[in-house]
Amino acid sequence: MGNPTGFLNINRNLPEDRDPVLRVGDWKEVHTEMAVSDIQSQASRCMDCGVPFCMAAESAQGPGIAGCPVNNLIPEWNDLVYRGLWKDALARLLKTNNFPEFTGRVCPAPCESSCVLGINAPPVSIKHHEVSIIDRGFEMGWVTPNIPEERTGKTVAVIGSGPAGLACAAQLNSAGHTVTVYERADRPGGLLMYGIPNMKLEKHVVERRIKLMEDEGITFVCNTTIGKDIAADKLKEDFDTVVICTGATVPRDLPVEGRELKGVNFAMEFLGANTKSLMDSELEDGNYISANKKHVVVIGGGDTGTDCVGTSLRHGCEHVQQLEIMPQPTNSRTAGNPWPQYARVLKVDYGQEEAIAIQGDDPRSYLVTTKKFVGDEDGNVKELHTCQIEWQKQDDGRMTPVDVPGSEKVIKADLVLLAMGFLGPEGGVLDQLGVEKDPRSNAQAEYGKYATNVDGVFAAGDARRGQSLIVWAINEGRGAAQAVDAYLMGKSYLPR
Ligand SMILES: Cc1cc2nc3c(=O)[nH]c(=O)nc-3n(C[C@H](O)[C@H](O)[C@H](O)COP(=O)(O)OP(=O)(O)OC[C@H]3O[C@@H](n4cnc5c(N)ncnc54)[C@H](O)[C@@H]3O)c2cc1C
Ligand code: SF4
Repeated sequence: MGNPTGFLNINRNLPEDRDPVLRVGDWKEVHTEMAVSDIQSQASRCMDCGVPFCMAAESAQGPGIAGCPVNNLIPEWNDLVYRGLWKDALARLLKTNNFPEFTGRVCPAPCESSCVLGINAPPVSIKHHEVSIIDRGFEMGWVTPNIPEERTGKTVAVIGSGPAGLACAAQLNSAGHTVTVYERADRPGGLLMYGIPNMKLEKHVVERRIKLMEDEGITFVCNTTIGKDIAADKLKEDFDTVVICTGATVPRDLPVEGRELKGVNFAMEFLGANTKSLMDSELEDGNYISANKKHVVVIGGGDTGTDCVGTSLRHGCEHVQQLEIMPQPTNSRTAGNPWPQYARVLKVDYGQEEAIAIQGDDPRSYLVTTKKFVGDEDGNVKELHTCQIEWQKQDDGRMTPVDVPGSEKVIKADLVLLAMGFLGPEGGVLDQLGVEKDPRSNAQAEYGKYATNVDGVFAAGDARRGQSLIVWAINEGRGAAQAVDAYLMGKSYLPR
């Protein structure tokens, strides 16, 4: 801890975001850069606490509740950044996180919710230090392929190239195993590539990492659906182990009257096609669902919904609004959500900030349910019929939404995007391999062990835990790699 009074003398500061009205004119990331000296000064706010809650994803309330899920050595690299020892900071960072360039951009930063300084002052800007370290590492040429000196002769097939599959592949390759990653999309990256839009994570950042992994010796086979183009059993025969990292891609539907109308789409149909068209042709090929000049209604108030808002505004929509069935979060922590837990408070994310700047008000409405969609004579959606709800406690303790009489509303809509979360992984690969599922239809494999009921088959990431976060996918990919290494070699020296 180089500066013992930094937390007293220096206020939290972050790089400014680009003007929302201007940035919707392009697909570049929303943040600007900050002077190196300012980043170093910010890093000196870290108190190097005796118990750094920021770096432990465990707390008195139980595992996974607080802090960084990959246990980043946050106080150590904060101090190294403050002292200008960037290369050492990078080495510490890469010990625990394979892809800080992703988490440093899009992680919701549970670490900052658990920062001890955050109890009575704005927390240390940990996430920004993380991305600054790795971006500087790439800029200076310090991030180079980590090629194993010896190969073990063991082979591993990873199904799915999202952050879980990538982390697993990187770790297993570093242990000398020969890893092939199968991906059904035309480009690797999972939701890093075809889920999270460019303004949150520019795709050259994902491609740079994939290229590095190829240089390390990992093979990527794209345009190949396991279970269809190659039978999952065949993979099991051909490789020593198989790791299922197929994500939780089954979206929650809204089976109300009019769901079949044209213009009612799942969010991922909208977001995925948009990124592909952008990358293939700068949207020239027209192979995407356009929100241009449309009244857009996004159903779902989470991250995916926000990404739909930001994308619709970039298409030049007439108007966008976002409907959420849950109540509006409070502005500060409630008694049931104490420090060091992740703070569930009202946030204005980039998409809402842009809508406020352009339309004049926050696009979100809370406690709203959709009763039906109504279409025109050509079968295109033209309106939503909604009503307000109240959450009422039933005799058995369950909370149930109850309609508020007289609150019915009709909303004009030419495009409706369903962003209500995901139910779990698709069945194909799991069924072909005979992998048991848990009650939520995820692959059944104990956290920390990752082994399924089928010998030599492991599961990690959203396919195992349900839709979650990139940082948890990395945590699971690393953990599964350790389990696979131990399975193949009898013991493992890989870190989690
Ligand atoms: C729109 C959106 C925005 C998000 N924003 C954030 C965010 O800002 N921050 C954050 O931390 N998290 C965010 N998330 C969540 C995060 O992206 C996921 O938790 C994470 O990507 C899960 O990683 P994964 O590797 O388990 O699965 P995925 O990233 O889903 O990757 C699974 C891959 O497996 C492939 N696949 C599936 N079946 C097969 C098969 N049979 N054969 C071959 N390949 C197959 C898929 O094509 C996919 O590429 C977001 C999610 C969405 C949908
Ligand atoms: S990965 Fe997420 S939780 Fe961990 S240090 Fe980075 S921003 Fe914080």
